[in-house]
Amino acid sequence: MYKGTNASSGIGIGKAVIVEETELVIERKTVADAAAEVERFKGALEKTMKETEALAADLATRVGEKEAEILQGHIMLLQDPALTGEIENTIKGECICSEFAVEMVCTMYANVFAGMDDELMQQRATDMRDIKTRMQRVLMDAESVNIAALPEGTILIAKDLTPSMTAGINPKNVMGIVTELGGKTSHSAILARALEIPAVVAVADFISGVKNGDEVILDGDQGDVYVNPEASVEKEYTAKRDEFLAAKEELKKYIGKPTITKDGVTVELVANIGKPADVDKVLQYDGEGVGLFRTEFLFMDRNSMPTEEEQFEAYKKVAEALKGKPVIIRTLDIGGDKEIPYMGLEKDENPFLGYRAIRLCLDRKEDIYKPQLRALLRASAFGNIKIMIPLVTCIDEYREVRTIIDELMLEMDRQGIEYNKDIQVGIMVETAAASLIADIFAKEVDFFSIGTNDLTQYTMSVDRGNDKISYLYSTFNPAVLRSIKRIITCAREAGIMVGMCGEAASDPMLIPLLLAFGLNEFSMSASAILYSRKLITNLSTEELQEVADKAMSFATTKEVEDYMRNFVAGL
Ligand code: PEP
Ligand code: MG
Repeated sequence: MYKGTNASSGIGIGKAVIVEETELVIERKTVADAAAEVERFKGALEKTMKETEALAADLATRVGEKEAEILQGHIMLLQDPALTGEIENTIKGECICSEFAVEMVCTMYANVFAGMDDELMQQRATDMRDIKTRMQRVLMDAESVNIAALPEGTILIAKDLTPSMTAGINPKNVMGIVTELGGKTSHSAILARALEIPAVVAVADFISGVKNGDEVILDGDQGDVYVNPEASVEKEYTAKRDEFLAAKEELKKYIGKPTITKDGVTVELVANIGKPADVDKVLQYDGEGVGLFRTEFLFMDRNSMPTEEEQFEAYKKVAEALKGKPVIIRTLDIGGDKEIPYMGLEKDENPFLGYRAIRLCLDRKEDIYKPQLRALLRASAFGNIKIMIPLVTCIDEYREVRTIIDELMLEMDRQGIEYNKDIQVGIMVETAAASLIADIFAKEVDFFSIGTNDLTQYTMSVDRGNDKISYLYSTFNPAVLRSIKRIITCAREAGIMVGMCGEAASDPMLIPLLLAFGLNEFSMSASAILYSRKLITNLSTEELQEVADKAMSFATTKEVEDYMRNFVAGL
């Protein structure tokens, strides 16, 4: 058995097809007429661009706009005058052929990106190498592997899959993907998940151990891969695969159904998104709205701040797509683990306790916060938008935001710009301080959404990204659970809506407790919605009171977890 990184859920069983791009041999050749060579390069660039655009359009219709964004990123790179200008200058300056100039310039950029700490930047290195090879293939008239034509029942095996290779895959024929390189967040892993093809990546020395036509089984949840397994293994995995597919199929019957407990309590199941394109998945999985739109993603992966107009378009697009269903949009939450290079922020000694989120926005009202709030107000005329403030610790912060919103409303009245005058403004409850004065907040704000990712971090004083102390990071810790229960109780007593948008909202072991506490809204990744609906439909809040009392009586995280695990297993 081989071991790799689980990258996309499910069991894949099929015949190995090893895909190897033939290595291009790029030689340094001098050219007599550099100007003519630049023209040849421009022609090839144009063709590469057209090919990539076609691939992106195909992917957008087959899979979704979000997935096509990776290739749109490639098109932007191909259009970048800094890159193409440098290639042209290299051709002219050194009188060399286009293939070699592309090699030099793109490799230089790829190495710079690869050397950066940031995972997103490292991904850029892969993108740069991908467009480099694509331009060279066009220049050399070399055909690339036709992945779209793989036979039925294929397990696709490659050293690494470039985004453009993955984009051509037909999920009807490809039962699984195994690569020697890549990681959970690599583009190919993301695309495999979007196409719902089981995948295992980073399987060391795999290709030397497998031949075309070999029987391969992979487990995309465990990261296990078998080549020509024994009959007993094949039998076991065939059963597992069938079970997985049947469970997936069964969930489809919850599409279009209300989310209501056995004793008639209706709750909302909504989705977390980062970009307008994510809405496709929300609709696909029948989300009842958006519970958290993390707007910082609109600010990332670019060189300057998105304008009020750009933000307005993005918010409007989501509001319109959801046709009156609630869309909670969180104002900018940067700093901490989320950096934005062009904002010129100084490195904080202690970023999670530092200059971030609402603290930063209130300090940069003119250039950051007001344009965002205005964009949100303008977009509120096109759907059911609610504004949510992150990392609030004291009521003054909320009041200050409310004042800015009221002033902007007056300004917009004068300008005759439409907006929803009753727009709701709520807060994320994700700090210990906000939880402790939840009763005070509940009297003034329109709604709460509990951010368990940070609430756990700030309650336990444990950095959410530090592996060494991750044993302390649990929502089932009695301190965190008491905090959650208190926040929900305060909201219910004041009669305001209370939701949860941290990862814990989709944890099957926590959902019963949240229902017992009285949570109104659960916001999670779209793909978790149908399973959660199934679970909630099978529970009764009345019957859960006893379970919750018992769970809250334990002194340790382990006791609570064991108890809830047993409870859920027995359902
Ligand atoms: C949270 O803290 O739980 C949350 C939803 O926000 P983020 O993960 O973006 O900090
Ligand atoms: Mg948070």
